[in-house]
Amino acid sequence: MLLTSSQPLAHVYDLAMLDLDGVVYVGPDAVQGAAEHVGRARDAGMRVAFITNNASRPPDAVAEHLTALGVKAAPDDVVTSAQAAARVLRDRFGAGARILCLGADGLRAALDEAGLVPLGVAGGEAGEDGGAGDDGADAVASGYGPDLRWGDLMRVAVRIRDGLPWVASNTDHTIPTPYGVAPGHGVLVDMLSRFTGVTPEVAGKPSRPLLDETIRRVGGSRPLMVGDRLDTDIEGARNAGIDSLLVLTGVTGLAELVAAGPALRPTYLSPDLAGLTTAHPAPAGDGERWVLGGWAGSVRDGRLQIEPTEPTEPDEADWWRVAAATAWHHLDTTGAVVDIAGLRVPGRERPAR
Ligand SMILES: [Mg+2]
Repeated sequence: MLLTSSQPLAHVYDLAMLDLDGVVYVGPDAVQGAAEHVGRARDAGMRVAFITNNASRPPDAVAEHLTALGVKAAPDDVVTSAQAAARVLRDRFGAGARILCLGADGLRAALDEAGLVPLGVAGGEAGEDGGAGDDGADAVASGYGPDLRWGDLMRVAVRIRDGLPWVASNTDHTIPTPYGVAPGHGVLVDMLSRFTGVTPEVAGKPSRPLLDETIRRVGGSRPLMVGDRLDTDIEGARNAGIDSLLVLTGVTGLAELVAAGPALRPTYLSPDLAGLTTAHPAPAGDGERWVLGGWAGSVRDGRLQIEPTEPTEPDEADWWRVAAATAWHHLDTTGAVVDIAGLRVPGRERPAR
């Protein structure tokens, strides 16, 4: 169930951990209003960290991209799954451990920064020999890398199968690209797991290490996770015992929201990052009808209905809260996902799928 916050979230939480794609930017472009909303949250006293499961770009490249979009960011404000993977490896194997690196520059830089020794796969760029198994590696780190070579992958697969410990930066199955949604590092993890029979330790969302690493680096005692994706951002926050804000500027639309089981439900929801500096009322319901801010939600013959109860123009955020509360109650009591076909979503031109 959604929680109520009578105070703006920026007053209740002292650290906002913002997912990037679908929250601050979509591909190369900023989400409308993101720079302004982040600025307001900072003015209200909130620290802001930018976190990403993408292990290929180092923090300074991400900070540069954000700054170019008008969102002020220093490299220290950015935490990547590569850094979280490096922390996991350093905690386990100690400074100076030799780590076989299957990924891009961002992963290699993070291992280096953590005091580990990144090794190229034998025969690759930094390889010192032509064989597999004699480089003295303590573990393998893997992450998204568009230029990975099949030959390197084969060597690493054999090492993992033979028992070398393995930490993966993330398991996202998709990655947005200018030419469409493409396979992410999770697809490679699946393939290696299938061959080796080994499941890696994962650093990125929805696992804990990335969120723990962010709090360690950026500080803050009352963190709030902010994301657009239920099965990484929101589930990750739940796994870490952290409250979460879902924004609707990315991959989650009405269809995903109404079908979300309890483990995937955010603490708060807002159409966009403006929700960082507003209070969050929650709908009140009697099991039949859920009401908030001039909207009433109910389910008739399995269909979600949301109707205005007042002649004044009601708030768009409250519409979404009523939709979520009504649909989740229905899901929990009947086991059925509400039908949303044809429902008009305020602020969006087309009816829901
Ligand atoms: Mg995202």
